[in-house]
Amino acid sequence: MFEDSIQKASEYSKAALLRLEFLGLAPTPQNFELLYAYVSGRLPQIKELVDGAVRGSGFTADQARAIYDKHLGADKEKEVLQNNVRQLSEELARVMEVISTVNEGNAQFSETLSGFTTHLNKPLSVEEIRAAVNKVVTETKSIATKNQQLQEQLEKSSAQITVMKEDLTRVQKETLTDTLTGVGNRKHLSNELKRLVQEAEEQKSALSLLMIDIDHFKKFNDTHGHLVGDQVLKLVARTLMENLKGKDCVARYGGEEFVIVLPQTRLMDAQRVADALRTSVAQKKIIRRDTHATLGQVTVSIGVAQYHANEQLSHFLKRADAGMYMAKSAGRNRVVVQDLDSITMAKLHDHKGKEADRFDDFDSDGETEVAAG
Ligand code: GH3
Ligand code: MG
Ligand code: MG
Repeated sequence: MFEDSIQKASEYSKAALLRLEFLGLAPTPQNFELLYAYVSGRLPQIKELVDGAVRGSGFTADQARAIYDKHLGADKEKEVLQNNVRQLSEELARVMEVISTVNEGNAQFSETLSGFTTHLNKPLSVEEIRAAVNKVVTETKSIATKNQQLQEQLEKSSAQITVMKEDLTRVQKETLTDTLTGVGNRKHLSNELKRLVQEAEEQKSALSLLMIDIDHFKKFNDTHGHLVGDQVLKLVARTLMENLKGKDCVARYGGEEFVIVLPQTRLMDAQRVADALRTSVAQKKIIRRDTHATLGQVTVSIGVAQYHANEQLSHFLKRADAGMYMAKSAGRNRVVVQDLDSITMAKLHDHKGKEADRFDDFDSDGETEVAAG
């Protein structure tokens, strides 16, 4: 989507990198693309969002990711889609062309055949008969070649269309995956949570959710660096994946937070799963690959909630989140089950202001909205 001259592109790239550094964002490809869009003045919405976020509480990696997902991630999908539609129409044009030449050939062929029959009703010399037969043979061959061409063209087109379909599936998967850890991203969580909750409503089955947050991760980053922090995020994601069943949904909700949706799972079982995950993470030894130095232990705090029939998704998430915060207050590296009703919950969240709104977009049917500032 960025088609600038080399000079302009190099100017924007430098400015984008400076800006990344200024904002304290990691120079990941996504952040770079976002800031490139920002400094080149393209997509005015991005400029507003970034400026708004900077004016507000500062610009976090989470905000950068949310803006990217909404404004650039989707664009990538659109681009591939448009590309596919263009290729598809080119393929169809090619097929139509072959069909029309074949049709022309068919018309000519039937003319030749009817001419031949008329001919046969007349007294003919051997020469004339031979000439007529020759003509029919030539036309038959030509029509056969053309039909073969059509066949080949159709085969080619169908192969091409298969490639396009695979391409679309791949991109669709990419836009739902968190690039760092390979687990689902927020968009994936939103899709899956809606689908699984609906299924639970229909089947009247239990569904639980875990809100997982790495403990003192800021300190870990500050001590060992962001890149080591990234490796730990990957390790935690892998540990979660290894310990879950195929139908469970694992997503990176934000920076160092993960959400797991457990269909067909009651609160007590979810609590057991959460505790197994917590133990499993705590048991991993963090060792630096380059120096082999032991960096100690990483722990997580987990909030658990079971879905209440007809509950708003934001409310459900808030309950699990409240459990997670209670686990933090109680000393971290623990699991807290949250089963409060909405009135108690409302009180609980009253004092937290903005924090309480962070799940509201899960209730809307549309895309994830990004709040600037
Ligand atoms: P708490 O136990 O209360 O959760 O403390 P905390 O330090 O984990 O929580 P806080 O919200 O203060 O900080 C979260 C930190 O997570 C800030 C940031 O350095 C780190 N973080 C967020 N996203 C990423 C990422 O993509 N990579 C790395 N390496 N660190 C990240
Ligand atoms: Mg956190
Ligand atoms: Mg944390």
